[in-house]
Amino acid sequence: MMPDAGAYDLEDLRARVMQKNGGAVDDSIPELAAADADQCALALALPDGTVRGTTQAESPFSVQSAVKPFLFALALLDTDGDAMDLIGIEPTGEAFDAIKLESGTGRPPNPMVNAGALLTASLIDGSDVDERNERILQGLSAFAGRRLEVDEGVAHNEHLLGDRNHALAHLMRAEGTLHVGADDAVAVYARACAVLVDVKALAVMGATLASGGVNPVTEERVVPPSVARDVVSVMATCGVYDGSGRWMRGIGIPAKSSVSGAIVLAAPGRLGAAVMSPPLDEQGTSVRGRVASDLLSVELDLHAFGS
Ligand code: GLN
Repeated sequence: MMPDAGAYDLEDLRARVMQKNGGAVDDSIPELAAADADQCALALALPDGTVRGTTQAESPFSVQSAVKPFLFALALLDTDGDAMDLIGIEPTGEAFDAIKLESGTGRPPNPMVNAGALLTASLIDGSDVDERNERILQGLSAFAGRRLEVDEGVAHNEHLLGDRNHALAHLMRAEGTLHVGADDAVAVYARACAVLVDVKALAVMGATLASGGVNPVTEERVVPPSVARDVVSVMATCGVYDGSGRWMRGIGIPAKSSVSGAIVLAAPGRLGAAVMSPPLDEQGTSVRGRVASDLLSVELDLHAFGS
């Protein structure tokens, strides 16, 4: 018998996770540096549309890299799958912002690192930056089941201060693999990272992937099953950057980490989940988020390859 996620004591899990200390809050932009290190929230979204959250489950934060699976999904949808040929799907074993492209092709290594997300964001429908921004916000909102908003200050600073993202965009231009202007690509990606979510919204986004592309709350089909499967597969192999192998062996739930301290998880056929706690380990993964994911995996029997 599978443990019942509907009856699981999430508040108790939060209390246990809060006992774990360590890690450092990201300081790449002032808004992230100002995060409360003791903010901690968890949520589960179940296939029957139930969404359960802890204390602070409705506190907003910028989605940051947890947006990457959803940008990949929207790029696959809007290009009818052609995006798959324009981007690699192999893990890099390197940091999220490594200045490196696939050797030989000049393609980004995978959609879960910055180079890849700069490209997937640029492939989403829209004839200019504003149209693409709006399509992304509308697509992410469909995943979340409610209209999301952008933190304009975060979007501005991500664009202004994202030197490595500018470098990656120019490198892809030089290789002929990015077909929009470098600055436009960074602007759109920066704005996608600045979308405000809370753990409930993020758990529903994860659950939509875990449910084969149908949002379990709104019952809207957001992406076809093949797209959901492709995205979850790449989350499993590349979602935690150079920590993806250790994550998948130990926790075994396809996931995507982010510098805001959020982690989105998609356990196919079972549930979507999200954890948020700002202090990060060296690989940019939330320290408490990892502990919470580990406990969820064990206590709800969520490891993809068995308990
Ligand atoms: N906005 C961040 C960046 O591109 C996102 C990185 C992340 O969350 N790992 O640098």
